[in-house]
Amino acid sequence: MGMAMVGQRRSERHLDGSRGTRGSLGVRSADVLIAGAGPGGAAAALRLARAGVRVLMVDRATFPRDKACSEYMSPEGARHLSALGVLEAVEEQGGRQILGTTVHAPRGSSLTGLFARAGHAAFRASGLSVSRRLLDGALVEAAQRAGATILEGVTAIGVVRDGAAVGGLVVRDRDGAVRELRAPITVGADGLRSVVAREIGSRRPARLRRYAFVAHLSGVAGLGQTAELHVSARGYIGINPLGGGLANVALVVPHTEVEPSKGRAEPFFFERLGRFSGIGERLRSAIIEREVMVTGPFDAWSRRVTAPGALLLGDAADFFDPFTGEGICAAFRGAELAEPLIRAALERPGTGALAEYARRRRAAFLGKWVIERAIGYAMLAPGFFDRSVARLERRGLAHTLIGVTGDFVPPRAVLNPVFLSQVVF
Ligand SMILES: Cc1cc2nc3c(=O)[nH]c(=O)nc-3n(C[C@H](O)[C@H](O)[C@H](O)COP(=O)(O)OP(=O)(O)OC[C@H]3O[C@@H](n4cnc5c(N)ncnc54)[C@H](O)[C@@H]3O)c2cc1C
Repeated sequence: MGMAMVGQRRSERHLDGSRGTRGSLGVRSADVLIAGAGPGGAAAALRLARAGVRVLMVDRATFPRDKACSEYMSPEGARHLSALGVLEAVEEQGGRQILGTTVHAPRGSSLTGLFARAGHAAFRASGLSVSRRLLDGALVEAAQRAGATILEGVTAIGVVRDGAAVGGLVVRDRDGAVRELRAPITVGADGLRSVVAREIGSRRPARLRRYAFVAHLSGVAGLGQTAELHVSARGYIGINPLGGGLANVALVVPHTEVEPSKGRAEPFFFERLGRFSGIGERLRSAIIEREVMVTGPFDAWSRRVTAPGALLLGDAADFFDPFTGEGICAAFRGAELAEPLIRAALERPGTGALAEYARRRRAAFLGKWVIERAIGYAMLAPGFFDRSVARLERRGLAHTLIGVTGDFVPPRAVLNPVFLSQVVF
């Protein structure tokens, strides 16, 4: 197996949690290089390291770090965390179990979907809301315990080409030094604005081009046991109880609305939240506990998710919209699909084992992609959206839909003429 040559390590966290010192010299070999140590990269690193593969991750951030996210996971997210061996540790440190999702449509109708009533046995009856600072930090630590190495503060700026194949990453240290890291397999798990996807993925431009403003607030009145989504004709908000008196509050607006937020994200955030029915009242005593983080536009899609010597997972492969996204679960699932194929590619180089990954992703995600887009575009027609929400609630179908968007009920439970006709007529 090949070598990743690492000169001049600047910020390397060792297995005991200590960090390498600035300017220390070192040479490290790796079978797999991973750009990005978010849920996708860390889960892949953990799975591969457990199987005895030598893994080197690079991340431009230093963990623990925050991430603009609504921080909601269905029971399927809990299943993945359990399989990765971190569920207990994460829940001990924080987070809150949630029972489902409530959707408030633009003209007053609403639905509540409960995981426990989705009609298929979930891993458990509750999902998990937990800050990404805690979740992602726990995953990185677990990957390190399994034997993976992470270089923090190191940014991937391109891929190394070995003829038609990818042979590693070009990275830049915090101090600006540029160098090559080489390995037989390179994984792009570097998120929505993935450098690896830009080079190998034939990245498709966004269509919805929505932006999000996300904060942690205390003092939000009326929090229940489900996450909330409030939809208007000009965007939506998510309110997700995180436990410990905190709520994750996210505002999502079309790109045409973001101009007035420039340089004044916080007043814009509160002013827009106040436009949603009943929300201003509930936020009257709210206090910002974590600053408003801004991200967007979303909806990025890599037409190719593999190249010789490389593959993409998580948001680097695709991300549509947070409304139905379950992007954390999708990143975990991508890592689950990729791990055996990466091992096969390492064991039998040149046999094209990685190419199978695209087919398996399609089989795993196609139904969900269709549903996400159907809901994402239905939101642009407020009257239709409102009537559909009312029918789903009245006909007892909301639980099934929440199970499908939560990735533990198969999409065919929704993508069939009987279900669809009950939503539309
Ligand atoms: C507003 C919003 C709300 C969301 N809410 C939810 C939700 O409630 N539930 C849910 O499941 N999903 C949600 N998502 C989606 C979810 O955040 C993502 O799908 C998920 O984080 C994808 O994981 P990932 O590992 O692919 O990427 P990321 O979590 O983005 O991790 C990528 C990592 O790569 C690093 N990185 C980036 N570029 C480079 C580079 N060039 N070099 C080195 N490192 C790099 C970053 O520092 C980061 O650590 C939401 C998304 C948004 C935008």
